[in-house]
Amino acid sequence: MEAIYEKLLKENYAEILFEDLINGKTKRTGDGVLVCCPFHDDNDPSFHISFNEPVYYCFGCGKTGNWIQYLEETREMTSYEAIKFLAGEAGIELNSNWTKELQEKELVQQMLNEANEFYKVNFKDLGEEIIKKYAKHRGFTEETIEKFQIGYAPVRNNALYNHLIKIGYAPEDVLKTGLFIKQKNDNITDHFQGRITYPYLKFGKPVYFIAGITKETPKWDKSKYKKLLVHSEDMNYVSPYVQNNTFYCEDMIYKSDTIFITEGVTDCITLNQYGYPSISPVTVKFRKEDYGKLAKLLKDKTVYICNDNEENKSGQHIGFEGAKETAKELLKKGILAKIILLPHPSIIQNYQEDRENVQN
Ligand SMILES: [Zn+2]
Repeated sequence: MEAIYEKLLKENYAEILFEDLINGKTKRTGDGVLVCCPFHDDNDPSFHISFNEPVYYCFGCGKTGNWIQYLEETREMTSYEAIKFLAGEAGIELNSNWTKELQEKELVQQMLNEANEFYKVNFKDLGEEIIKKYAKHRGFTEETIEKFQIGYAPVRNNALYNHLIKIGYAPEDVLKTGLFIKQKNDNITDHFQGRITYPYLKFGKPVYFIAGITKETPKWDKSKYKKLLVHSEDMNYVSPYVQNNTFYCEDMIYKSDTIFITEGVTDCITLNQYGYPSISPVTVKFRKEDYGKLAKLLKDKTVYICNDNEENKSGQHIGFEGAKETAKELLKKGILAKIILLPHPSIIQNYQEDRENVQN
C-alpha cells in the first residue's frame, strides 16, 4: 500500500514546520531532535521530533500527535485544511486513496489504545493479592506497572472483541488490529487469552504488543511469549499499519547517552525501573532489517548488551552468541557496544543455597 500518510508528513515537517518549532535550545537525539515544547513552558528541550516517524512527543507534558493535529491545534486548521496545506507545501498531489489510508491508520491506533485500556482494567481486576504476588515475583513497583502499562488479557474467547464491538467499532475494523484470530469457519477469537500484556509504547502510544504466559493461559496456547499479529497473505484482514518495527521500551532511551539492551521484556522493565535506560529486541538478537534503525537510535551513545548467559539443552550459549552478533553489527556502524557477561544462573542459585545454609 502506498503510504501517502507517511510520505506526506515525513517529507514535510522538517522543512515547513521546523522554523515554527525552533525557538530556543535544541538537542540532537538518535533519530531526531529535541526542541522547546510549544505546548508547555519549557526551557530544557523536551519536545521530540522524530526523523523516522511523522509524530511528535513531549517528554515534559506528554503531548503527542502527528503534524496534521499539530496544525489543527496551533493554527486552528481543520484536518482537511492541514492536510491540504502540508501536501501543497511538499508538492504532493493528493489522490482519492489518501483519505482512506489516513482514516485507517488513525482508526487502528484508536482501537489499539482501547485494547490497551481494556487490558489495564482487567489487570487491576485481578485483585490486590495477585498483583502484589506478580509485582514481587518480577521485582516491579506499583509505579512501574503503571508506567509500562502492564495489562491482562482475560481468559475468554471474545472478551476484547465483544468490548470493542460494544463501544462502537465495526466487526471488520476490529479485525484490523492484529488482536484477533479469524478461523477458516469465520469464527473469531481473541489472540491473547490469560496472558500478561506488555504494550510497545511509541511516543506514549501502544503500537504493538507482546504477552506472556500465565497459569490461566489456555492449554492449546503453549508459547511463553506471543506477539501481536501483523499483515500477511494469510492474515490479510490485519491492517498493514500494524507493524512490528518498534523496539520494546524505545520511548525510554531518547535522552540518555548510555543505553542497555536486554534479551527479555521483564529484564528491560527492571533496568528502566532502576534508572538504566534500556530497550529490548525481545529475543537474543535483533533482526537483520532492524540494524539500520537501531544504529540511528543509538548514534553517539554507549551501548551495553546484557543478554542471559545460560546454556540451552544442546549446550549452546545462545544469549551470548546473540549479544556478540548485536555488538558486531553496532561496531560496524560505528557505535561503541560492549557486552556485559551476567553470572550463570546456577552460580546465583549456589550463592542462594550457601546463604540459606549459613542462615540455618
Ligand atoms: Zn510539552
